[in-house]
Parts: sequence; C-alpha cells; structure tokens
Amino acid sequence: MPELPEVETVRRMIAGVVVGARVASARAIRRAYVIGSATPRALLADGVIESVRRHGKQLAIVADDGRSLGVHLGMTGGLRVLAPGEPTPGHTHVEWDVETDSGHRRVVMADARRFGGVWTFASFEELRRRRWATLGPDALSIPDDEFADRLGRTRRAVKAALLDQRLLAGVGNIYADESLHAAGVHPGHPSARLSRARARRLGRAIRWTLDRAIAAGGSTVRDYRDPTGVEGAFAAAHAVYGRAGAPCLRCGRRLRSGVISGRTTVWCGSCQRGPDSRRA
Ligand SMILES: [Zn+2]
Repeated sequence: MPELPEVETVRRMIAGVVVGARVASARAIRRAYVIGSATPRALLADGVIESVRRHGKQLAIVADDGRSLGVHLGMTGGLRVLAPGEPTPGHTHVEWDVETDSGHRRVVMADARRFGGVWTFASFEELRRRRWATLGPDALSIPDDEFADRLGRTRRAVKAALLDQRLLAGVGNIYADESLHAAGVHPGHPSARLSRARARRLGRAIRWTLDRAIAAGGSTVRDYRDPTGVEGAFAAAHAVYGRAGAPCLRCGRRLRSGVISGRTTVWCGSCQRGPDSRRA
C-alpha cells in the first residue's frame, strides 16, 4: 500500500505536468469510483490546475476557482500520465485531458482492486474539512516537540501509535518498521514510556527515512508504480521491512519478526531497545 513517500512521488510528478494546465475534458468511466458529483465540471473540466497538495497519504488536486479533487490511491491505485499514443491502461476509472505547455496529455486514475477513490468538492476548504480534518499532522513536517507530545499521550505500543493516522499522517507498516530500526526503538515499546530524547530522535528518524525514500522514488513492494509506470527504488534500501531472518545491517544478528498491533513487524532484538531491556 502506498505510504507517504510513494504518494509524495506521485504528487511531485503529477504537479510537474498539470499545474498551470487547463483541463480540456474529464470523464468518470466508472461512476462508483467517484464519490460526490461525477460530472465533467465536478472533475475540474474547464478549470486551470492551481496546485497538487498532499497530507499524509492523501492527495488533493485544486483548480484556480477552488474546485478540488481528493485522491486516495488505496492498495493498487495510481495516477498515470500517459505517453502520447499510449493506450488506456486496464482498470482506468477516471480520465482527464489536460492542455500543457508541451501539448495535450492524458492523465488517468487506474485501480485494479478499487480500494482508492476520487472525491469531488466545490472548494479546497470543504475537502480539508471532509477528508483531512481527522488526520494528525503530516509526518514530513511535524516538529519534534509536537511529535513527542503526541506520543506521550498514548500508552499503546509505539508501532501502533505510528500507524494511527489520527496521531501522525503518512506512516504505514514499511516506514514504521524502518524508522523504529533507524532510531533504535523496539516496536513494542509503550509510547508514553519513551524518554523525551528518544521520542524526538524517533521523530527525526521518521523524517530522515521518509526523505531518503522520496529521493529514491518510494518503495515498490508489489503494485506501486510512479506516474510514468516506473517502480520505486527504495525497497532495495530497506533495513528491516521484508528482511525477517536476514542479518541486521547494523549488528549482524538475525532480524526477528512477529505481530504487533495486528501487523507483521520486523525488528532487531539487539539494536532496538524496549523499556525493560537490560541494555537500555
Ligand atoms: Zn541489530
């Protein structure tokens, strides 16, 4: 499932094509994939794209008159910019024709499993209120102190807290495990019992991990592709995710795995300290 780095990669590439472009036409091929009005106008026809924004794993495409689309990629969803003459991909549910400086381009939203969607709103404020208000601060921009405050208010395992989009928006299973390993924090550590210094260090580790992943174009674990159809390269740099039983890249001991808060979790029993660890 795409997490913040994959969604940010999509945002940057789509923004590079459509910001400033006029939407010549828009069409919902599968009506049920669009939540709200699905008319060409609701899908931004005749508007000029002012910005493509992101909060956590959610995208917004905003026209200069305020009309806005919320886009969620779900498990297998992808916004694609088609090369000239490229046939429409399978499972395309919405398509746009945009007039860019370098000519007409087709942008499509394709999604095989249809856990994603496109939401239509008359204004960006309405989108924010209806789609983003329940989300916590974005994981890429939250200040360390606010992050530490938020962790300090929950007794759940820190892995569960990181996955809670109301506490912090954008981190999922991959980057939770990677960040916890980078910060040397055991995934089962009760959040509120982390010292202030370790909580702040974890906040920095999350940003460092996300920044590196964005620079690599995200992680392709199964389905994710960028808007040109290319896989993200960051999976090759994963230190723990997908490496259970392999040696820890830092200490060489075998990485452990188990289920924490319902999700498969991989960690190093030596490098990642829990509250009761004798090494702490
Ligand atoms: Zn280790």
